Amino acid sequence: MARKLVVATGNAGKLREIQEYLTGLPWELELKPGEIDINETGTTFIANARLKALEVAKALGKWSIADDSGLAVDALNGAPGLYSARYGKTDTGRINRLLRELGETDNRQARFVCAIAISNPEGKIVLETEGICLGEILKSPRGAGGFGYDPIFYVPSQQQTFAEMSLEKKSRISHRGVAFAQLMPDLQQLSLV
Ligand code: IMP
Repeated sequence: MARKLVVATGNAGKLREIQEYLTGLPWELELKPGEIDINETGTTFIANARLKALEVAKALGKWSIADDSGLAVDALNGAPGLYSARYGKTDTGRINRLLRELGETDNRQARFVCAIAISNPEGKIVLETEGICLGEILKSPRGAGGFGYDPIFYVPSQQQTFAEMSLEKKSRISHRGVAFAQLMPDLQQLSLV
């Protein structure tokens, strides 16, 4: 019988995406109720993922999964990092700010990071992982797919930006794809307990 797993987000798109990654596992996903408001006060992606999973699990007495992700650019000392979502008002605004701050800098190295944590109903983190995808920040956007910083994030091993990849490819090689792939064996074990 499927067990309920509350996704610690109010974002239905994120729930659908996590649903895709967990296809075949006996978990029935549901959205976090709007009244549970979480302050993301952690100083790392994994700390914020833990915090969100724990708060939701404790508030509801249910299993909970949370993720936290962002883009860290080497030449900007890891910025926008935890502030990736708040770096500007729109995707275009965020991209333009990043390109402006990087300027003509030769060092374009960057990484997307995705941390995932799962809490049991008693409020204990039972699984956590962090997936990374290495890339370079282009000087101008390329491609029409994806969201967020995708058009300026170029993955040398694929010779494409995230925005130029098929959804299937991005899901496989992205920070989120890597994190879920790492989580899967342990999550499969946990599903049997
Ligand atoms: P959150 O984990 O939903 O808070 O997302 C953090 C922010 O990081 C997003 O709003 C995007 O700006 C950025 N981000 C995370 N993952 C991706 C991605 O796969 N592509 C582009 N931007 C991303």
